[in-house]
This record gives sequence, C-alpha cells and structure tokens, in this order.
Amino acid sequence: MAENERKSGLFVVPGDRLGVIEEFTSGPGTYVEDGVIHSQVTGRTLLDMLNRQVSVYPVVEEATVPQVGSIVTGMAMDVRNKNAILHIFKIGDKSLSGAFKGALHISGVSHGYVDNMYNVCKSGDIVRAKVISTANRSIFLSTADNDLGVIYALCSRCGHVLHPADRGMSCSNCGNFERRKLAPDYGKDVNHEGERNES
Ligand SMILES: [Zn+2]
Repeated sequence: MAENERKSGLFVVPGDRLGVIEEFTSGPGTYVEDGVIHSQVTGRTLLDMLNRQVSVYPVVEEATVPQVGSIVTGMAMDVRNKNAILHIFKIGDKSLSGAFKGALHISGVSHGYVDNMYNVCKSGDIVRAKVISTANRSIFLSTADNDLGVIYALCSRCGHVLHPADRGMSCSNCGNFERRKLAPDYGKDVNHEGERNES
C-alpha cells in the first residue's frame, strides 16, 4: 500500500505494509515488525481515523484453502527427476490471490509406473491435480486420476504451445517432441490469465 493511498477498503495480502506505529495502532488482522504495521491476512483495510487504528477484515473464505480432495490448478515449477512443485492459483473454480505451493511426487503421478517426472510435466506447464495430504501444513498432490494431469504445456525448446501427437506432444513451430501426463481436456481450459482466450 503506497504512502498516499491510506484508506479503508483496500485489498491487501499477508505482508503488505499498512503504515508505521507512529501513525497507527495495530488492529485485528495486522502485525508489527520493526515498527511497521503489516497485514496478517488477505482482506480489506479498515482505517479508524478517530482512534488511529488500522485493521484488516479477512475476505478469503475457508473453502479457498486447499484441503484433502480439493482439485487444484497450478503452474509446474522446479521440476526434478522425481518431484515437481506446483504453484497453485486455482482451487476448484476459484482463483486465488495468494499462493500455495504443492508437491507432486513421481509415485503420485499415475496409477501405472512412471520413471521420470520430465515425462510428466515441465516447468511452465499448467497442471490439474488433487490434494492427497495436507499433513504438517505441506500440500501433497496427485495426478493419477483420469481427469487430472497437464492441461496446457509449452515446448521446452521454443516456448510454443504443444499439441497432442501420437504417444506424446509435438511442437508445430520447431518440431520438438516431448512427453506429458495429459488431462483428457488438454488445451480446452483456456481461462488461465486470459492469454489463450482470443474470443
Ligand atoms: Zn518448439
């Protein structure tokens, strides 16, 4: 929040700077660190100018936290031989303002044997997965069910969209051939960031 934008109703996320303790007292939904008041939650600011208090009213519903069984959509990052991290931006149909990270292990990729995560997804891919554990505040994911997997993939060589081909994915731009664990509706969910939705 910029210095000149102090007013009620502003949308803030955890960590956003709300002011300093010389100006305001720290109300519900905020915390103080080194004399600076930050938001503790995702929500909207409430400035009580009479009492010089700043608060944040949470706006995120309970249902937008990934729970066991939740179907989530995220971008694959840090793809390794046996693991990938998904940056989750959707739970069900709800887009998230904050970010959750979920871990996909090779054993949760498919009901069959998969030897290498690079044949499942690559960094930058959009993946639909199911939350199978939230133990110790860590999110563990699976793409084993038939309706789960990569829904959008980019060529790791040139960045163009990959198209399903016989036994894999091909790039119409550079001819590269790659493998993925595809969801059956690959390429049809075009609502991510609007960039693929030309209509
Ligand atoms: Zn390519």
